[in-house]
Amino acid sequence: MTKAIYAGSFDPITNGHVDIINRAKGIFDFVYVAVSHNLNKTAFFTIDERISLINGIFKDDPKVECNGLEGLLVDYAQKKGVSILIRGLRAVSDFDVEFQMSLTNRELAPKIDTVFLMTDSKYSYLSSSLVKELVHLKADIEDFVPSHVKDALKEKLK
Ligand code: ADP
Repeated sequence: MTKAIYAGSFDPITNGHVDIINRAKGIFDFVYVAVSHNLNKTAFFTIDERISLINGIFKDDPKVECNGLEGLLVDYAQKKGVSILIRGLRAVSDFDVEFQMSLTNRELAPKIDTVFLMTDSKYSYLSSSLVKELVHLKADIEDFVPSHVKDALKEKLK
């Protein structure tokens, strides 16, 4: 059984993330979605809220499990017996930081590889930050996030 981990801040999960998870499910037998705190970003939802939003999509999916991630991703991967990390790529602009991160992870754990999946072109400009900005501006985010995520964003802003 080939398992992979898709880690990120998912604050909140967008249709771009969902697209990557669905693509990963087509390649791997099982996908762990690991929700982490990103020190460089201010959190909007708590880790538990983000997990619950992801579970709102995948909780009945036997190929997906979502958990919080504390500490090093490679330690978590080794604990789960997983040697493949998934990251999504939107545009060339993602490459620098992803390149640096994947080589750092390889330095920390040489047997763990990162697999990059290209998003659908219609999500190539989409990010959690953009969605939050649009919600603040009261724009329609219908096409960018699942409907329960849209409701949660609106509720959080009240
Ligand atoms: P992080 O803070 O770890 O970058 P994100 O939630 O922003 O967490 O992103 C997690 C992963 O999902 C990253 O690999 C990122 O490039 C990817 N990603 C984010 N948005 C999209 C999108 N619209 N399409 C495909 N991949 C995406």
